[in-house]
Amino acid sequence: MNVILLGAPGAGKGTQATRISSRYNLPHISTGDIFRANIKNQTEIGVLAKSYIDKGQLVPDEVTCKIVENRLIEKDCENGYLLDGFPRTIAQAEVLEKFSKVDCVINIDIDFSFLMERLCGRRVCKNCGESYHVSTLNGKTSCEKCGGELYQRKDDNPETVQSRLNVYENQTAPLIDYYTRKGIIVNVAGAGTPEEVFALIVKALDSIK
Ligand code: AMP
Repeated sequence: MNVILLGAPGAGKGTQATRISSRYNLPHISTGDIFRANIKNQTEIGVLAKSYIDKGQLVPDEVTCKIVENRLIEKDCENGYLLDGFPRTIAQAEVLEKFSKVDCVINIDIDFSFLMERLCGRRVCKNCGESYHVSTLNGKTSCEKCGGELYQRKDDNPETVQSRLNVYENQTAPLIDYYTRKGIIVNVAGAGTPEEVFALIVKALDSIK
C-alpha cells in the first residue's frame, strides 16, 4: 500500500505517521527528516536545504524529487511506503507519478488558527522524533517514550512558521484538489486527540487494504 500523508505544517502528520507506519508496517519517509539528517551531517544537500528551510521556503523540486525517487527504490519500500511531507507541490506530485503509483492520500484537515500556537510550542525528541507541546510538558525536557532530549526546531519560530503557512496555502493546498480529481483522497478531521485522528485514518486505510 503506497500512502501519502498530506496536511499543513502542525496538522499532526509526524505524530500520525509514526502510528501508521507501525500499524501497517510501512517505512515512514519524511522529506523534512531526511533534510534535517543531511543538515546535521553537513552534506552538500544539507547545506543547500538549510538555506531554504531556515526561511520557511521549499527546497527546490529537482533536489527533493531525486531524494524521494532514490529512497523509494530501496528494498523496504517493496510492499509499500508512507510519504510524510512529500509531495508539497503539484510539480512534485507529477514527478512522483512517473516512478510510483499512489494508492491513497490521507489529508489531515485542520483549522489554520490552531497552527501558529501549535508549531511555536512544539518540542521534538532528538532521538525518536516524537512531538510534544510545551503546554503539556510541565517543564519536562526529555521524551516520555525513549528519554531522549527534547528540542525546538529552528523553523518553529513565529516568522518562519508564518512563511511555511503561506507556502502551504499557495503551493501545497492545491494538491487537495489534484488528488480529489484522481479520486484517491480521504479527508480526516485533524482537530481531535491524536488517538481520535488515528482512529479515522485506520478506518480509511482498512477500507482500501
Ligand atoms: P517538515 O519537517 O515536513 O515540516 O519539513 C521542514 C522543511 O523541509 C519544510 O519547511 C521545507 O523547507 C523542507 N521540505 C520538506 N519536505 C519538502 C518537500 N516535499 N519539498 C520541498 N521542501 C520540503
